Amino acid sequence: MATRNILNGSEDILRKKSREVAVFDKRLHQLLEDMAETMAEANGLGLAAPQVGVLRRVFIAQNGDKNVEFINPNIVWRSDETVTEHEGCLSFPGEYGYVERPQSVTVQAQDRRGNFFEMTGEGILARAICHEIDHLDGVLFVDLTEEVLSFEEDDE
Ligand code: ZN
Repeated sequence: MATRNILNGSEDILRKKSREVAVFDKRLHQLLEDMAETMAEANGLGLAAPQVGVLRRVFIAQNGDKNVEFINPNIVWRSDETVTEHEGCLSFPGEYGYVERPQSVTVQAQDRRGNFFEMTGEGILARAICHEIDHLDGVLFVDLTEEVLSFEEDDE
């Protein structure tokens, strides 16, 4: 395993749409393992492949004390109830914003072997799933918040 460089939010690649994964091979597994190590080192809750420069529909998210790998994910249900909470991104260190997200979502995806699964996440996991899927479509949280805030300003 190795850590990969997390791209900064100003990089053009983060605005591109990622392509579906068709081959579930060692290269994909290496990417997933590197992403897990990169996310852990950065103390993140989620990381999408475009953030490490790979335009594929892949993300990982922390669920309790384990990582879940999502390949070719699609949200198939979202609750009417929404929550507006603070949200950050590893590509925008030190910044956050308030973003409205569904309280719960159900996502269909494939695992690293290509098997389909479905998972319902609530609260912070639902938020992470929505945030990471946005990355796969070139959408960043700064597009969805009224104001981008920074941790430094809070300390003044
Ligand atoms: Zn992000």
